[in-house]
Amino acid sequence: MTVGHLIAGKLVPGASGRQADVFDPATGQVTRQVSLASRAEVDAAVAAAAAAFPAWSATPPARRAKVMFRFKQLLEAHAEELARIITSEHGKVVSDAMGSLARGIENVDFATAVPQHQKGEYSANVGAGIDSYTLRQPLGVCVGITPFNFPAMVPLWMFPLSVACGNTFVLKPSERDPSCAMRLGELALEAGLPPGVLNVVNGDREAVEALLSHPGVAAVSFVGSTAVAEHVHRTASSHGKRVQALGGAKNHLVVMPDADLDQAADALMGAAYGSAGERCMAISVGVAVGDAVADALVARLKERLARLQVRPGTDAAAEMGPLVTREHLAKVRGYVEQGVREGATLVVDGRDPQVPGGQGGFFLGGCLFDRVTPAMRIYREEIFGPVLAIVRVATAEQALQLVDQHEYGNGTAIFTRDGDVAREFASRVQAGMVGVNVPIPVPVGSHSFGGWKRSLFGDHGIYGAEGVHFYTRLKTVTSRWPTAVSRGPEFGFPTMK
Ligand code: NAD
Repeated sequence: MTVGHLIAGKLVPGASGRQADVFDPATGQVTRQVSLASRAEVDAAVAAAAAAFPAWSATPPARRAKVMFRFKQLLEAHAEELARIITSEHGKVVSDAMGSLARGIENVDFATAVPQHQKGEYSANVGAGIDSYTLRQPLGVCVGITPFNFPAMVPLWMFPLSVACGNTFVLKPSERDPSCAMRLGELALEAGLPPGVLNVVNGDREAVEALLSHPGVAAVSFVGSTAVAEHVHRTASSHGKRVQALGGAKNHLVVMPDADLDQAADALMGAAYGSAGERCMAISVGVAVGDAVADALVARLKERLARLQVRPGTDAAAEMGPLVTREHLAKVRGYVEQGVREGATLVVDGRDPQVPGGQGGFFLGGCLFDRVTPAMRIYREEIFGPVLAIVRVATAEQALQLVDQHEYGNGTAIFTRDGDVAREFASRVQAGMVGVNVPIPVPVGSHSFGGWKRSLFGDHGIYGAEGVHFYTRLKTVTSRWPTAVSRGPEFGFPTMK
């Protein structure tokens, strides 16, 4: 079975002659192929989106919202099916896949209110007989390029709001788990999205490069690793496109001495090892304030890790599934070896996990390092696997400086009972999303998501009000009707007097 493309409302087979293997990470077996689009196939998708734009952008927002209502209902009706597709290609536990889908559906909820979000402002009589009003108009053809780790949620951060605002869209999902995006595209068509409004082209770097320089593309939303995000931002910007490019992360969770340590340990377990650490908001650094906190936390984590159920994502008892590919597994194992060489204390070594029913799969057990220092590569670099590093500091101020000095600034969290400390941390910390006793502070669909520093390139966060601004441009109309005034030519700068 080969996954093709969805162009102009039709499923089409790939024509480039290039394909890649798609694996079931729990067994290590190739389950299907994905077509890798050529520039000609990208051209066809952009042409379909451009052809659909005039009619779709002229469709009243309330009618576009109705399609989003139906789309939301279909996503809910097919949630289990979509979650199983995600698990079969990504590997994450089915309940986790269901949760991420629910978070994606929040963005469809938000898109259903587009008549409200796209409303302009009106000022009567800004000058004698002169009125002024604003319009938020769609941009044209928008592109979404998405990572492997959220095959439903990240595409849903992008295209529902974009098309609800009157744009048309070309989605380029990750080639590692392409099937979910194709199903989302089919369901959007079934919901009543006209052909060409949403197109899905599968592919790799070649398709991305074709999209970034395509003259028919107005805007690019990208989510993925920092090196590629920076490249996408630079290249698409140089071709005159509006760009938001979200990159990698190294998220710190600070534990203060007054925190409930059981709660903090539970939070670290879920945030570090959930989804095998393959979340951009995963916690990969626990910052213990004081040695007593560090010792108590490490003891609690060690005991919990001994009970962590690493199994295929479809197993009802699974808490953590496999990594996405054999190459990624090798990379993460390499970081564990690196940490040992660098002198960190490997408290729990997950490199040889016993996984019931997981023979051949890309499994790694949860790994825990203590006494990690900021100079180590396992601290500085994003590992994107189930590896938690504990860094010991003496004060809350040192914890804050540690977070601030890291090159990434996606999310962070603090666990404490002290309101002053929490408030100071939230207001001063250099990160885009902050949790107070909340380990994974992914904003709800009515707020917006976005990191700071090298976790986001561009001026807008994604979804919510920031998304409406990104996917529309402002036009301001100043009008005077002839009956109001006629003074003859005026050569001074207009002052509205
Ligand atoms: P990735 O950068 O390898 O791939 C992302 C997309 O870019 C894919 O569609 C891929 O086909 C394409 N791509 C890959 N290499 C390319 C290249 N050289 N040139 C052009 N296009 C290329 O990322 P990934 O491994 O799929 O996802 C994991 C990364 O995404 C992690 O770094 C994670 O932190 C990040 N991420 C960030 C967020 C966020 O909101 N900030 C959310 C999810 C994931």
